[in-house]
Amino acid sequence: MYLHGTSKINALGHLEIGGCDTVELKQTYSTPLYIVDEALVRQRCREYMDAFKASGLAFQVAYASKAFCVMAMCRLAEEEGLSLDVVSEGELYTALQAGFPAQRIHFHGNNKTMDELEMAIEAKIGCFVADNFTELHMLQALAADKGVSVNVLLRVTPGVEAHTHEYISTGQIDSKFGFDIGNGSAFEAVELASRSLNLNLLGVHSHIGSQIFEVEGFQLAIERVAAFSADVKERLDVTFKVINLGGGFGIRYTDEDTPLLVSDYVRAITDAVKQYFAGIYTQLPEIWVEPGRSIVGDAGTTLYTVGTSKDIPGVRKYVAVDGGMTDNPRPALYGSKYEAMLANRGNDAAEETVSIAGKCCESGDMLIWDAELPKVQSGDLLAVACTGAYNYAMASNYNRIRRPAVVFVHNGRGDLVVKRETLQDLISCDVIPERITKEPSYK
Ligand SMILES: *Cc1c(COP(=O)(O)O)cnc(C)c1O
Repeated sequence: MYLHGTSKINALGHLEIGGCDTVELKQTYSTPLYIVDEALVRQRCREYMDAFKASGLAFQVAYASKAFCVMAMCRLAEEEGLSLDVVSEGELYTALQAGFPAQRIHFHGNNKTMDELEMAIEAKIGCFVADNFTELHMLQALAADKGVSVNVLLRVTPGVEAHTHEYISTGQIDSKFGFDIGNGSAFEAVELASRSLNLNLLGVHSHIGSQIFEVEGFQLAIERVAAFSADVKERLDVTFKVINLGGGFGIRYTDEDTPLLVSDYVRAITDAVKQYFAGIYTQLPEIWVEPGRSIVGDAGTTLYTVGTSKDIPGVRKYVAVDGGMTDNPRPALYGSKYEAMLANRGNDAAEETVSIAGKCCESGDMLIWDAELPKVQSGDLLAVACTGAYNYAMASNYNRIRRPAVVFVHNGRGDLVVKRETLQDLISCDVIPERITKEPSYK
């Protein structure tokens, strides 16, 4: 397993993260356990901030909180000077409760409800990323009602779709998100927003994909957004103050993944903005980006305890852990790949190929196919790397499995940031109607 950030094998042969021995973390917090390397999260935040500072452009780096949205993480992003993207009232509530400054919060989503828009207007958030005409009308009506003006970015689809190693330069028109540039609806949206009395149109937003390892997709998107900006300036005399280029910067889950340095992504983006906007605007726009995965992904490790195993001679050996698709649905959802090691026997050489299964009643509940590990025994601790993004955030209670605790580790200290759910938590929203008896009645 690749050791990210402060992860290392200590003198006892145990995996240590943030100066904390994972065997001790298990004793204190039990398993499954999400462990977050705080120093690595802070380092990633700083890589973005420093790279933008070096560009000389005005900027905001907004952490896409959907990747891992808990109050302590909102605090961390705040301390590092980042802004924050939210996509629901729940994420907004979490951020506000954590004391995240509303002015630095951006609200995304293709189906924000009236209640959500109202909550966000009342909280005085920094900006709405409007996704469609319905939302523009709702926002204008609500803002007029309250006698306020709200900042708006328009989400546009520039017709670039980036996937890991390639990008498709057409075809994005068929997406539930945003206003398409190619078919004129983005232009119409600019017309509407700039004419709406209670909307303050800041600019446009584009997000081209996820887990991207190349810069060409971003460059092409910027070229198209710049051409659109020129068109809008000429025909409507509207100038964008902000260009938001979304997230999607890739990270290393396994050695098949070849991400660039954060500074390389940022330089490619800021250089392209300078190149394509120079002839259009006298003052270059402010650049916003929205990394999620690349802020928290490789800082997360999930610790499990090995339970049963099933060896099918000549076929495969399954080794089951005390979690699974409930704490990490990504392998089942997307076929995502992960690396693992035995955290209590970090120096033992790989001896067998096993497949790591979860404990859910579902054959698809697999975490890793064909992991090379030492001879795995019941009671061993299995660490799966790179689980910081879209794991806790996507965790479920399927099979009424309790969601794990989350600890931040830093300089030899482990601090709980999310408590493990209790059995009581699992039934806390359940109600038995009066007419259904509580006592056994079937005789
Ligand atoms: C998901 C998303 C992000 C973050 O994507 P990552 O791949 O986690 O960096 C940013 N912006 C928007 C609009 C998104 O939908």
